[in-house]
Amino acid sequence: MSWKLIEKNKRLLKEERGTIYKDHHGRIKVAIIYPNTYYVGMSNLGFQNIYYYLNQRDDVVCERAFLPDEEDIDEYKRTETSLISLESQTRIKDFDIVAFSVSFENDYINILKILDLAGIPYKKSERNEKDPLVIMGGVCAFFNPEPLTDFIDLIAVGEGEEIINEIMVKYTEEREKGKREMLKKMALIEGCYVPELYDIDYNEDGTISAIISKDGAPERIKKRWIKDVDKYIAKTRVFTHNTEFKNMFLIEIGRGCGRGCRFCLEGYAYRPLRYRKADKVLDAVAEGEKFTKRTGFVGAAVSDYPYIDEICFGSSKEISVSSLRADSVSEVLIKKLSESGHKTIAIAPEAGSERLRRVIKKDITEADILKAARLILSNNIPNLKLYFMIGLPTETDEDINAIIDITKKVKEILLETGRKKGQLGRITLSISSFVPKPHTPFQWCKMDDINSLSRKLKFLKKGISRIDNVFITTDVPKWAYIQGMLSRGDRRVGRLIDAAHKLGGDWKKAIKETGINSDFYAIRERRLDEMLPWGYIDVGVKKDLLIKEYKEAMTRQGLDETELCNK
Ligand code: SF4
Repeated sequence: MSWKLIEKNKRLLKEERGTIYKDHHGRIKVAIIYPNTYYVGMSNLGFQNIYYYLNQRDDVVCERAFLPDEEDIDEYKRTETSLISLESQTRIKDFDIVAFSVSFENDYINILKILDLAGIPYKKSERNEKDPLVIMGGVCAFFNPEPLTDFIDLIAVGEGEEIINEIMVKYTEEREKGKREMLKKMALIEGCYVPELYDIDYNEDGTISAIISKDGAPERIKKRWIKDVDKYIAKTRVFTHNTEFKNMFLIEIGRGCGRGCRFCLEGYAYRPLRYRKADKVLDAVAEGEKFTKRTGFVGAAVSDYPYIDEICFGSSKEISVSSLRADSVSEVLIKKLSESGHKTIAIAPEAGSERLRRVIKKDITEADILKAARLILSNNIPNLKLYFMIGLPTETDEDINAIIDITKKVKEILLETGRKKGQLGRITLSISSFVPKPHTPFQWCKMDDINSLSRKLKFLKKGISRIDNVFITTDVPKWAYIQGMLSRGDRRVGRLIDAAHKLGGDWKKAIKETGINSDFYAIRERRLDEMLPWGYIDVGVKKDLLIKEYKEAMTRQGLDETELCNK
């Protein structure tokens, strides 16, 4: 065992407030793992709150673990130390249950890395009764966990606050019967998906022909969702400065989004829309005062939150938000953000042209964007961040040009407001690549390939470089492609994750060595009647609605329905 690693854990713990320590004796031992570093994971509210709620049970002790920092991985390997938990530095392999909370596809490979470091076989077929039960929750679990089914025993589909209790009860009742029998019983809990109880058949062209449940497992997995969100307040449970959103007490103001932008998972998979009551949020704001003077509100579209002005008036604290809808920013909110010391605010037009914004159902006008920019920049907030996507369905070079055009118009406002105050700020464009997500109307769409995305980025960067005081940050098309492949992949993609892990994260080589056609998963347009890998998950949105939205998006182009991919 490496003392260096233990000391590092102790140092992190010393700087935390709210850590839960419990005796292990006689309790179900759960290691909740975030498949990225401590710095990233400790800003994740879902992870923090499942840790808290599991520890509310008297029969459970839950401790945290993370992907170690790069230098610590070397130390783990050098000293042959098996991955340890944070609170008691217990070996992860000595826990009864290892629960991953997964929010991003590009973290999938880290799950294998972590299990390897813990000395637990990462392939579920190689694990035995002595190994911990490996379960998974988080956003990725409820949109398409298929690429991970070779590695995970049980997947909790949906919001976790209630389902984890049912899993713990079943674990206690059935553990003596052995994993297989226990999993069969767990499969009967609503929202529980046991991959080994499902067989997948394929057509000659590689698409899925059937998903067959066996041993009494349900045909469809119904996503779990919390009816009364006020019952479970999601807020910072363990406060630390060693994380992305340091110095900030995070509070989730609601779940889901009422807008339904066609590319957005939040707008579909998190339905129905549920807001927390203002008094509950204000109570949490007051609680946060014990830790820090700044509150960060987390939610899909914070400026849509109906009580946001009330919260601004009712709170003496500094507040923070991730980004705002251009058509719902209020003066009260902007003034509060300004008083809170914000120097930059983000709005997300997503597309440059009004035509493309209509296609994606981001129904905000250019006037809305410019009005919001003026409101922000004239309220003592000198900088503006604008989020855009490239590679959206039906996009042309004109739409890319429109990003440049609207940036120029925002720049005019920046100059005008800056001159009045004698302070010139900056505009930052944050550009990401469109990745089609399951359960959204764009789940069938073609994704741009790496070359096309790179070309568009080059074009955009060139255009933006000619505008003073405007900066641009972009994602990397290669990573968007990998994300696309994992996002819409089926079980066979697990082989690719396995190979990429063995090759130290070299996806290109992994694709070559496995011979798997990655384009088939990443960029291919799907037929509307194709059986999709995630088709067994019922998130509560009817396929008819998704098809209607998809067709409406495409026919806004003037395309005939027969020209769509659904032949
Ligand atoms: S993009 Fe924003 S406004 Fe649109 S559905 Fe998603 S969260 Fe809501």
